[in-house]
This record gives sequence, structure tokens and C-alpha cells, in this order.
Amino acid sequence: MMTRAPAAGENRNGFAWDSPAYVFDIDGTLLLSRDLVHYNALNRALDHVYGVDTTIDGVAYHGKTDLSILRAALARAGVSGKVFEAKLWQAIDLIGRDVASHAASLHPEVCRGIPDVLALLKARGKLLGIASGNLEAVGWRKLKAADLDGFFEFGCFSDRHESRADIFARAVGEVKSRLGNGTSVCFVGDTPEDIKAAREVNAKIIAVATGTITARELTSLHPDICVTNWVELLDHSADSARCLQEKSHRRSISSGL
Ligand SMILES: [Mg+2]
Repeated sequence: MMTRAPAAGENRNGFAWDSPAYVFDIDGTLLLSRDLVHYNALNRALDHVYGVDTTIDGVAYHGKTDLSILRAALARAGVSGKVFEAKLWQAIDLIGRDVASHAASLHPEVCRGIPDVLALLKARGKLLGIASGNLEAVGWRKLKAADLDGFFEFGCFSDRHESRADIFARAVGEVKSRLGNGTSVCFVGDTPEDIKAAREVNAKIIAVATGTITARELTSLHPDICVTNWVELLDHSADSARCLQEKSHRRSISSGL
């Protein structure tokens, strides 16, 4: 419970968008994918590249990187890490081509409030990036299908990084190369792995229970803040209220209302 009135720029949670850079996870954070395009592409790589008749079913893939999902599914089928690594670039290439050829079937559901959050951050001059366990070709396709790709100035993916902490470290490097060495970074994610990876790189983390992990579980890992939906971080914030009012005013003008 708050014991004081929110200061300027804070919302009712005592939260303020005070970092110069925000780096977002994709799945479960920005959007939810109900289609099977990504899933099918990973399974095709297991079959066509490694010759293994298996799927990623049963691998606990929430919060995992694509590389660690493939490695786990192959290990379960008896394929060695050495073989996994030797054919990895073939697999990455196949997955990218497969998702591209099925891009019309991508139908991501954007998490409620996300377009307003991203518009607010852009309006405040924040640097926005992506740090996702997806392969790069897959991640950008999903963002494009959700019409969110234009918000982000860079993306760090799992093509060269099997661990999420390595992806986050790369993202911190991207922010610092753009804004300077002393710049602090705030990550945004929906799984315990996002919280752990952010802590490993000494960054802040906003946890959102918009994916499959409950707010209770996320809170137990002590993120800087945990919310159950994006609207919680928008309402009661003077800046966000003003931004939304301006947007709705523009919408009214453009629609002639
Ligand atoms: Mg996620």
C-alpha cells in the first residue's frame, strides 16, 4: 500500500518511466501467438535438418531461447550437442525461410495497452529495443505482423546466443553504444527467465503477468515492479493520461468526430 501521494510522473504503483531505454521481450510481453507458424518451423528443423522424427512438445519452452528449445528436443531424441551445433546454421536458415513462407498465417494478438505504452515511451524520447529468445528472422516477422516493428530501434535475438542472459548483455551493449556507457537499461518481460537475466546484467526489470506465468510467481523473484496488465502502468500517470488524451483528440479530428 502506498503511504504517500504519487510524485510527478509516478503512477499509483509508485512507478515512473525513468529509464532512458526500455528493452522488451516479445512472446507473452508484447504479443501472444495463437498460430502455429513458429512452432511448426522449429519442428521442421528437427525433421529436415537433424532427421529426427520428434517435436518440441514437452519441452518447457516458455522463457527459453529457440536454441535451447532445439537443443533440449534433440537431446531427448538422443542427438548429441556436437551434432546440434554442427548443423545449427542450417537449422536457423531453414526456420527463417519457413516462417517467411508462412508469414501470412501469423496472427499475433497484441497485449492490451501495449500500443499506448509504446507510443507513450516514444513520445517521451525513450530508446526502445527488443531482447527475445526468438531467432531474429522469426521475431521481426511477428513484430511486423503485429504492426509493432516500427517502435523499435534495435533487436537482440538468440541466433548467436543460447542463454537469455547473453541476449540481455548484448542489448545492454546496444543501448550503451547509442546513449553512452553510464546509461541504465530497463528490461520488460513475462517470465522468471527475464527477471533472472536482467539481474545477471545488473539491469532493472518490469515483470508483466500477461503471458503464462502468474503475478505471484513473478513477484516471488523480486522484479522492480510486477503488473498483471499494461493498463496498470498507464492509468494514474499524468504523462500517460496526457499522451492518451492527445491521441484520442487526434483520432477524433482524423475521423471527423
Ligand atoms: Mg516471453
